[in-house]
Amino acid sequence: MKTNIYGYRSQNKGLVDDIFMAAWFYGLKLLGGRQARHIWLDVKLTKDLKKNSGGYAFCYITGEVNKPREFEIELDASMKFGLEEILKWLAHEMVHLKQFVKGELCDYENKKVQWKSKLLSDDMCYEDMPWEKEAYRLETKLYNEFEEWYYES
Ligand SMILES: [Zn+2]
Repeated sequence: MKTNIYGYRSQNKGLVDDIFMAAWFYGLKLLGGRQARHIWLDVKLTKDLKKNSGGYAFCYITGEVNKPREFEIELDASMKFGLEEILKWLAHEMVHLKQFVKGELCDYENKKVQWKSKLLSDDMCYEDMPWEKEAYRLETKLYNEFEEWYYES
């Protein structure tokens, strides 16, 4: 995975190293080394993202949408949030990246979303979205695995 981290607090080498290693670890766990190698990921750190947009983190496809390999993940890196929170949001967004790469999740312009073999309307409530359920289910698990590997090895 080619990862580039920029934006707010990106001069903080410790923070950038932790985010870089976490993104690499999550990518490897979710995609495997062979697929992760073809992914280009920009991580944009933003101040007050939640305050201004309503979300702590987002994942966007930036390149080709049919077979997506280029992404941007935006994270709220405001000082009031701890590293653990930021790395969990990153894990959550990496699950969405995986869903896009594996073709499990496709967003269409006609307000339809394809999830695996089902075509769904995008107006369902957030908690019912199966791709969100998967991301919430995996974010803590991924973070805990990362923490164990990174801080105890
Ligand atoms: Zn999500």
